[in-house]
Amino acid sequence: MLFLAFITVRIGVFGLFHPTHLTVQARPQQVLLINGTPSHAADIRWNAAPAQITARDGGPTDFLLSIPGKIERNFRGTLSITSVGNELIPVITMDREQAIAAVVAAEFPDGTHIEALKAAAVLARSYYTASRKRHRNFDFCDTTHCQFHRSPPSAQHAASRAAQGTAGLTIAYQNQTFAPLYSASCGGHTLTASSVGLQPDPYPYFSVDCPACQRNSRKWTQRIEVEVTPTEQFRLAQKIPSNNYTVDKTTGVIHGRGEGHGVGLCQLGSNSMAAHGASFRDILNHYYPNTACSRSSQR
Ligand SMILES: [Zn+2]
Ligand SMILES: [Zn+2]
Repeated sequence: MLFLAFITVRIGVFGLFHPTHLTVQARPQQVLLINGTPSHAADIRWNAAPAQITARDGGPTDFLLSIPGKIERNFRGTLSITSVGNELIPVITMDREQAIAAVVAAEFPDGTHIEALKAAAVLARSYYTASRKRHRNFDFCDTTHCQFHRSPPSAQHAASRAAQGTAGLTIAYQNQTFAPLYSASCGGHTLTASSVGLQPDPYPYFSVDCPACQRNSRKWTQRIEVEVTPTEQFRLAQKIPSNNYTVDKTTGVIHGRGEGHGVGLCQLGSNSMAAHGASFRDILNHYYPNTACSRSSQR
């Protein structure tokens, strides 16, 4: 029996809303410990920091966190609230595997094949393991700046089963775990990092064929008024759907396929591979050549 250390991540949530007050609700029959004071209250409001909210034993608990009228989400973990100026910074220390399940559930549509979800769970875990810290008050945020997620799904949800089924696994290049890129639909073949102006970090990525996208990816056209430079930065600035396109110099129209940057795993293609019997390891080997998927020794 292999024991995995209980690893947590500190996720800063609701930052997009710049909250000035927050409401925390205990779940039925539960007691929250707030700055050392037990509370049965169903509805606790804050406009002052700092605050610590835990279970009675100081450990993780289930609670509903909301900015009234704007957003509410269920979490399990411990909550700390600090402030910068008027803005409250709620940070949830949660089980890393639960955060991974939340990312997979948010980023991959319902109905995605379990093996494709397992590949996604390895990617999310690799990101949390290898990504450099991008925030001062916590490890990662809950937006696409880091990895997007909402409330963690139930333990029975396919995304949770995908996390459990790949527990501890990350992908590494030259023995170094990296934060892997992936995109919605590569349009027929994936791209290297350098071909779209991205720095290898440390993985350079390789261009591989994606038969599902060759058959099924979305075709699009767009008129561009400025000279085309085929980089990810240019694509985002010009709101071009993908990096897989050709330019018609006479008309200034570009013709493309797919959605997203096209570097690393293709979500459309990985789901098709899984539906045709590929395992999550087959999927990772296909979209990330020259990498190894194993239990990470880092963190
Ligand atoms: Zn972030
Ligand atoms: Zn593809």
